[in-house]
Amino acid sequence: MELQQLGWNDFFAEQFADINPDGRIPGRVAYQHRTHYGVYTEGGELRAQTAGALRHRSVWMADLPAVGDWVVLLARPDEGTATITAVLQRRSSFSRKAVLSGGMPDTGGKTDEQVVAANIDTTFLVSGLDADYNLRRIERYLAIAYDSGASPVVILNKADLCDDADTRIEEVGQVAFGMPIHLISALTGDGLDIFGEYLTKGKTAVLLGSSGAGKSTIINALLGREQLRTGAVREFDGRGRHTTTHRELILLDGGGLVIDTPGMREIAIWEDDEGLGSTFSEIEQLAVGCRFRDCTHVNEPGCAVLAALAEGALDQGRYQNYLRLRKEIAHLRTRKDTKARRQLERNMDKKIRNYFQERERLRKKGLI
Ligand code: GDP
Ligand code: ZN
Repeated sequence: MELQQLGWNDFFAEQFADINPDGRIPGRVAYQHRTHYGVYTEGGELRAQTAGALRHRSVWMADLPAVGDWVVLLARPDEGTATITAVLQRRSSFSRKAVLSGGMPDTGGKTDEQVVAANIDTTFLVSGLDADYNLRRIERYLAIAYDSGASPVVILNKADLCDDADTRIEEVGQVAFGMPIHLISALTGDGLDIFGEYLTKGKTAVLLGSSGAGKSTIINALLGREQLRTGAVREFDGRGRHTTTHRELILLDGGGLVIDTPGMREIAIWEDDEGLGSTFSEIEQLAVGCRFRDCTHVNEPGCAVLAALAEGALDQGRYQNYLRLRKEIAHLRTRKDTKARRQLERNMDKKIRNYFQERERLRKKGLI
């Protein structure tokens, strides 16, 4: 592997030279699994762990390596392993607030920022032009993208499902002032070639957007094959168990790189300004009519959501997206960081409650 192809440039080369690490080599983090890392180097991929000294001088989670980071390695190529001795300064990064279980033993339950993707050139803000289209949400994502330091590019996907794309482009143009806006259909392949303009050799991108917006479909199209879920590698976790890990820094044939980490997906779910309740308001409203209060709307008798689905009053695609998002949230809930999770759940519940209170207020006033 050629370093430039992985995104190496003067910005990193100068830092590396300043550290002047005798006999050490640079590498870029391709995946992280708790305290284990996969790192791309000129000589291929190495499995790595952080040096004790690096952990000791790390005050914040953000001082530790994340996917996309350039790191300094003490390599043992014959073993296929390495020790990460330093993290080079980032050009840009996405983070989320989190209390982490793995990695830092002594965070004492305090909230900290966890970097979920580093050194990104372009953020593609993906929004579907279907029922989930929401201008406020696009605004929110724009703000997150700005914070990261990576240039935002708006991608309006599912053009095949939209009759008035021109109106949408105009609307989005008013909130995404001066940002490039591209209309595509990941399904038909229309407009996909614009990604090539940004993903030139060594350039790294992330895709940000709600669940169901089409991010995986786009990445798979860029890969030209279903590689996203097949790049699995076998790894040992901290307790010596076998686990499956995916490379989250993906090298494209065209020369660019895409970062797709679970953390990026979490930003998509939790930073969503309005939460599950309002995104799928018609489903939440239907659910009031279900026979069982804890109905999951999958196979229960007397389920009002399934009834609406059978009658065609509820769109099948909307229902599928709802189930998908719920599954992702459930997946998050199985994570170990219970404190952060509980906080997130509380926020979510509050948002949903506020939403219904507001609806009720407007209904009483006869405004809806
Ligand atoms: P993600 O959650 O953002 O990764 O979204 P996915 O890539 O999984 O896509 C969600 C759903 O939208 C899937 O059923 C896709 O097949 C569908 N989809 C993605 N792009 C398009 C598109 O351009 N047009 C249409 N009609 N459907 C699309
Ligand atoms: Zn139900």
